[in-house]
Amino acid sequence: MARSPTVIVIGGGNAALCAAISAAEQGASVRLVERAPEALAGGNSRFTAGAMRVTYDGVEDLRRLMPELTDAEIARTDFGSYPRDAFFDDMGRITHYRTDPELAETLIDSSLPTLLWMRDQGVRFLPLYGRQSFEVDGKVRFWGGLTVEAWGGGPGLVEKLTEIARGHGVDIAYSSRAVALEHDGRRVTGVRLQTQAGPQKMAGDAVVLASGGFESNAAWRARHLGAGWDLARVRGTRFNTGDGIQMALAIGAASRGHWSGCHAVAWDLNAPEYGDLDVGDGFQKHSYPLGILVNNRGQRFVDEGADFRNYTYARYGAEILAQPQQTAWQVFDAKVTGLLRDEYRIRTITRVVADSLESLAEKMEGVDAGGFLSNVKAFNQAVRTDVPFDPSVKDGRGTAGLDIPKSNWANPLDTAPFEAYGVTCGITFTFGGLHTDVRARVIDQGGEPIQGLFAAGELVGGLFYFNYPGGTGLTSGAVFGRIAGLEAAGSRSA
Ligand SMILES: Cc1cc2nc3c(=O)[nH]c(=O)nc-3n(C[C@H](O)[C@H](O)[C@H](O)COP(=O)(O)OP(=O)(O)OC[C@H]3O[C@@H](n4cnc5c(N)ncnc54)[C@H](O)[C@@H]3O)c2cc1C
Repeated sequence: MARSPTVIVIGGGNAALCAAISAAEQGASVRLVERAPEALAGGNSRFTAGAMRVTYDGVEDLRRLMPELTDAEIARTDFGSYPRDAFFDDMGRITHYRTDPELAETLIDSSLPTLLWMRDQGVRFLPLYGRQSFEVDGKVRFWGGLTVEAWGGGPGLVEKLTEIARGHGVDIAYSSRAVALEHDGRRVTGVRLQTQAGPQKMAGDAVVLASGGFESNAAWRARHLGAGWDLARVRGTRFNTGDGIQMALAIGAASRGHWSGCHAVAWDLNAPEYGDLDVGDGFQKHSYPLGILVNNRGQRFVDEGADFRNYTYARYGAEILAQPQQTAWQVFDAKVTGLLRDEYRIRTITRVVADSLESLAEKMEGVDAGGFLSNVKAFNQAVRTDVPFDPSVKDGRGTAGLDIPKSNWANPLDTAPFEAYGVTCGITFTFGGLHTDVRARVIDQGGEPIQGLFAAGELVGGLFYFNYPGGTGLTSGAVFGRIAGLEAAGSRSA
């Protein structure tokens, strides 16, 4: 009887766990090695809110994904739709049409089937009410194409996937760092590991790399992203230092994608160097489209309302990094503070409140008060108050005559109390990575697949350039992780 193939999966996040489950489902014997100790395992996936971008043609598709949706919920909610064409448009527009069309097509067309597969495995989903909807005229309306989150957010997702993987017999080794791939000149035959017991070799018929990008490697950040990026805070795990990419390049894999680009956001000014699992993504500050963003000179430097936050937040981190002291302040008045996202209510937050703009300016440490007050005055005068404000659509309520416009959701800052939140740049993940094909095979510098080597998740290059549509990272990891597991299980050394 033929022995079942052994598949080694490197990483412990969403992409790795989906790959492991998928390979095990095919009958492979699966060994997953995670660099982090069990208490810190789960990679960036565990830090997320579990938001996942998925196509749906209407509420019936959502019902398939979330059978728990009640009729009452459906009646009071306008879920809209997010058809494949809309996802395609977003991927094209957001990446300046550089995204690999084949990878993007696979990602988009497999998004719903993959989430349905996860559901069949036991993952539960629910509507992302808290962060992606506003109530308008008595109806809750979703916006920005992002409607679904995993039950329990990132921690719930990782916990459930781990439980499912174990249920399929996947052997999980924590505190085990893969350091090199074994290659016999023809195919990958295993990995070398650094474990608490010392160096080890693990043999396998196929290896799936799902060990994240290089966002947690300050030297690589400065080298590839550019000067100053060593100063960014890391939003998630400290363990994604580019190991998987390095190991594959060392055996001849081709690099691909936007190596000088990354996903980076507005992140609390006093957040620690790496993510804190107790706070999760709570240090992010994503409600800037409702207010203004100023630097320490008191000047605005981006169009806060250029688009829904899902389509601007991932590139505004870089804009903040480029400001003096890598610092900015988000400023709101009482007209909108009730609409701020839940992350504005965490305990560890850099927040100042005042009854006047003058007093607020004094409290915003390091900010030129005179510059701030004159810029707010100019902003307030430029707001087109003749256009109604509606946060659930791109309302066109912009400014007129400013060098840096605000295109939507502009409101004069005139109602006390005023609030300001200090932010810096938090890097989420890097865009550059390995060249893979739609079968998740790693491609070598000659354009051929490296036998026995697959990759999924953050370390795949070629999908994201310049920017990223929110909620796509987990979906990409799940889609290509599932494919990688399936392909790896069919891969066997002679
Ligand atoms: C704060 C935050 C919030 C986010 N919110 C969302 C969201 O809501 N929706 C969304 O889609 N995306 C979100 N993202 C992005 C998302 O986290 C990533 O796109 C996705 O989780 C990547 O999954 P992955 O499995 O590729 O990597 P990860 O989940 O980071 O997993 C990589 C794993 O590899 C392990 N590893 C690294 N090196 C080695 C090695 N040498 N040997 C063994 N193991 C190794 C790490 O320990 C880690 O477990 C967020 C990210 C952060 C940081």
